[in-house]
Amino acid sequence: MIISSSKPFGEVLAALEGIDNIFVIGCNVCAARLHVGGEPEVLDMCEKLKAAGKHVVGWVLPTAACSIRSYGALVEKGPDIRKADAILVMACGSGTSVVSRLVDVPVYPSNNTDSLGGRSGEQVLPQLCEMCGACNIQEFGGICPKANCPKGLLNGPCGGSISGKCEVYTEKDCAWQLIYRQLEKTGSLELLEKIIEPRSYS
Ligand code: SF4
Ligand code: SF4
Repeated sequence: MIISSSKPFGEVLAALEGIDNIFVIGCNVCAARLHVGGEPEVLDMCEKLKAAGKHVVGWVLPTAACSIRSYGALVEKGPDIRKADAILVMACGSGTSVVSRLVDVPVYPSNNTDSLGGRSGEQVLPQLCEMCGACNIQEFGGICPKANCPKGLLNGPCGGSISGKCEVYTEKDCAWQLIYRQLEKTGSLELLEKIIEPRSYS
């Protein structure tokens, strides 16, 4: 799941300055589950834009904004997209980028894309993976230090953790404490003895 968050409405409005006819596109997967681009948020955005004097020509909620077949598929769902001077996409940057390639009017994002995360039950889990292209998360009990330790340490903790919290981001759990606990739980503590070499970029 891509973790994204809503930009302040004032920022969205400022970006749309001078543009009248706006078509809104949500995303019924990640953005909907995070409440930043599902139907309630799209309808709320339409109302706010109208209240700010904009003309909202229509909206659609594709299954995933990052996976839209064609411009025709958008027109099929929302024919009024043809009247738009600009499109506002309530998804992550990937969805905004896909929409940009399909339309011939300017496209604006209403969200910031924060990280590649996930969700477990009601808990949103941000920043689980850095998309490094060389996954060896099995060495760390499934908790990636490249993504979760601000120092990116591959071979154990820095020693600065206090009461299980990271010394850099004190509100976050120390990634290496989490890794230790997970390896302990799975009977894999011997992995801590293994030296993990830095990635070769040669
Ligand atoms: S090693 Fe970590 S950052 Fe790299 S792909 Fe795997 S989970 Fe993502
Ligand atoms: S306290 Fe833990 S998570 Fe924070 S920098 Fe040190 S090893 Fe990394």
